[in-house]
Amino acid sequence: MESAALRVLPLRIAVSSCLLGNQVRFDAGHKHSAYLTQTLGEYFEFIAFCPEVAIGLGIPRPPIRLVSVDGSIRVRGVKDTQQDVTDALIQYAEGVARQLQHVSGYLFKKGSPSCGMERVKVYDAQSGHPVDSSAGMFAGTIMQTLPELPVEEEGRLMDPRLRENFIERVFIYHRWHCYCASGMTPAALVDFHTRHKFSVLAHDEPAYRELGRLVAAAGKRDIGEVAGEYIRLLMRALTKLATPKQHANVLMHIMGFFKADIDSGDKAELLDLIDAYRQQQVPLIVPITLIHHHLRCHPNDYISSQYYINPHPRELMLRNRI
Ligand code: SF4
Repeated sequence: MESAALRVLPLRIAVSSCLLGNQVRFDAGHKHSAYLTQTLGEYFEFIAFCPEVAIGLGIPRPPIRLVSVDGSIRVRGVKDTQQDVTDALIQYAEGVARQLQHVSGYLFKKGSPSCGMERVKVYDAQSGHPVDSSAGMFAGTIMQTLPELPVEEEGRLMDPRLRENFIERVFIYHRWHCYCASGMTPAALVDFHTRHKFSVLAHDEPAYRELGRLVAAAGKRDIGEVAGEYIRLLMRALTKLATPKQHANVLMHIMGFFKADIDSGDKAELLDLIDAYRQQQVPLIVPITLIHHHLRCHPNDYISSQYYINPHPRELMLRNRI
C-alpha cells in the first residue's frame, strides 16, 4: 500500500479543557498552556473535556481529592467528606473513551484528582494525611480502557525527550488510524510495519523482533486479531524512551544501506557525527540531516520510506536539542 492511497484523517488529540484556557477549574480559573495552543495547535485539532464540570460539579466548585478508604481509592469532597463522585467520574470516563476511538492522544493536566496521569496525592480518610499517590480517577479510567492511546501530562512536555516521545507516538498512532480507515489487510500491515521498523528499533529491540514475527504470520490469522495485538504491542514499545545509544545504533543501521555508495571521507564524517550524537555533543538532527543529504545523492527507497527519518513536522524542532 502506498501512502498516497491512504485515507488521511484529521489529527485530533483530547486535552484537559483548562489547558486550552477555558475557565473551568474549581476556582473558575484556567491553566492555559501556550505550548499547546500556539505550537501544537498548528498541527493538532483539540477535543476538550472537563470531567468535573461534565458530571455537574459546577464552576466554581468546592475542591475534591483522592482518598484511601478501606484499601480502595475514592474521590471525595475536601470539606464535605460525604460527597463522593468516584462512580460519576468513572462512568463519564467510560463514555468519553468510546468517543476517543479515532483520537491520537490525550494531554492531561497534572496533579488533578480527576485528570492527573500519575503521582496525584491520595489522602487517608481518617487522618487526612497524604499516604500514597495514583492517577486521577478520570484519567486512570481512560488509560485503563484505552491502553494503546498515547497519553502525557502538559508539565512533562517541558522535558525535550518526553515531548518528542509523546509527539512521535501521536503521529504514529494517527498513521495507524489512517491505515485502518483505508482498510487493514495483511499487505497494509506489512507496509505499516516496514515503514516504522527503525522507529521501533530505536525504542525497544525485543519488541521490534516480536512485532516482526507477528507481521510475518499476519496472512495466516484473522487480520483484525493480529492488528489489535500489533498496535497494543507497538504502542507499549514506543512508551520506552529511545536512548542516544539506541538512536546511534539505528543510525549505524541506516548508514549500512548506503555506505558502499559514499567515499571514505563522507563515511568518516557521518561516523564522527553519529559518535558525537551518541556522546550528546550534537543533537540528533545533525546526523539525520547528513543522512538526508546522502539520500538525495544516493536515493534509497527503503530508507526514504522510514518514518524514523521524518517522524513529525520539522518545524516542531523536536530533535534539535541535546
Ligand atoms: S484538571 Fe480536569 S477536571 Fe480539573 S479543571 Fe482541568 S479539565 Fe477540569
